[in-house]
Amino acid sequence: MAYDIPLFNLNFDEREAEAAAATIRSGWISTGPKCAELEKMFVDMFHVGYAVSVTNCTDALHLCCLVCGIGPGDEVLCPSLTFAASVNCIRYVGATPVFCDIVGPEHINIDPKDIERKITPRTKAIVVVHMAGFPAKMDEIMAIARKHNLKVIEDACHGPLSEYKGKKLGTIGDCASFSFFSNKNISTGEGGMFISNNKEMADRARLLRSHGMTTMSYQRAGGHATSYDIVELGYNFRLDDIRASIAIEQLKKLPGDLKTRIHVRERYLKGLSKVKGVIVPFADNTEFTSNYIMPIVLTDSTKEHRDAIREKIHAAGIQTSVHYPAIHKFSIYKDFNAVLPQTEYVTDNEITLPMYAALTDEQIDFIVKTVDQAING
Ligand SMILES: *Cc1c(COP(=O)(O)O)cnc(C)c1O
Repeated sequence: MAYDIPLFNLNFDEREAEAAAATIRSGWISTGPKCAELEKMFVDMFHVGYAVSVTNCTDALHLCCLVCGIGPGDEVLCPSLTFAASVNCIRYVGATPVFCDIVGPEHINIDPKDIERKITPRTKAIVVVHMAGFPAKMDEIMAIARKHNLKVIEDACHGPLSEYKGKKLGTIGDCASFSFFSNKNISTGEGGMFISNNKEMADRARLLRSHGMTTMSYQRAGGHATSYDIVELGYNFRLDDIRASIAIEQLKKLPGDLKTRIHVRERYLKGLSKVKGVIVPFADNTEFTSNYIMPIVLTDSTKEHRDAIREKIHAAGIQTSVHYPAIHKFSIYKDFNAVLPQTEYVTDNEITLPMYAALTDEQIDFIVKTVDQAING
């Protein structure tokens, strides 16, 4: 069934279509000038030293783990309330994920206190996810990392241009990842970005992105090189210029799009503050954020109750989602036997409401009224 109000809509128009067509007509479609232009835009807009475009965020996370020197025998602290890729990347390099709890329904990011509790002599790094684009407690996390000599990887997929104390998310830890999957703030179908302020890490990510090759096809086609060496066991994680040209148009729109989302969020907050039985995570946030999604958490609830509420909201033509099914409950992670009470409550009682710039005030009010009636009606 098609919902009257979908969870997400693409902010696409002729500009993306024209950009893709122009790249196709240019005759160069694989990694080349458009990827370079996109990387330069990231460096400028995110105030970061280096940006390396990649096929998707999952590969960016894999690169983060590799350039942080994580390997077999290492433990990496990570949240469970996230998308599987934030944890799978740890296993790609042979290390062991150690799940940490979130703070609670008001702050659904990783809890620094649980991070500290779970540090062992084997701990090598922390993967931080900024849920919905709202910053994790980075001051505390960076202090712990410095104290124990740990690397910090930011999965900043939800938070392009989001800020923490004036710094862009993704520029606080050692390196970070962004996604351009269809439903993200920047959409190209598939795509992603690795960023870092560390030149060595960025150079190594660039090398590993393309088979560990010392030169790329585009350089050879331009006559800048005629041969190459393979110096490391690398991968093919390259973005193509067609998608990069779409990402460039998306990035140009991003500041305006996020400004409108702030209005959407404010209208939601105003309406939901009068709805009994609902907590809005990060309601007290005052920083600039991407508002990637609009999560709410039901109070005094159970999974069955939450699922029944979702059914009622769907019946009114409004699509919802859940962010996220907890990773530590999935078949491939359940034998880790993690016990995470706050994560378990939120995964069972969270509902993600529609969030995008094109939502009208009337639609937001209708969604709030529907949620209220579903819970309290
Ligand atoms: C979407 C997402 C990913 C994966 O991104 P892909 O580009 O699809 O690989 C990883 N982490 C988080 C938090 C995400 O939301």
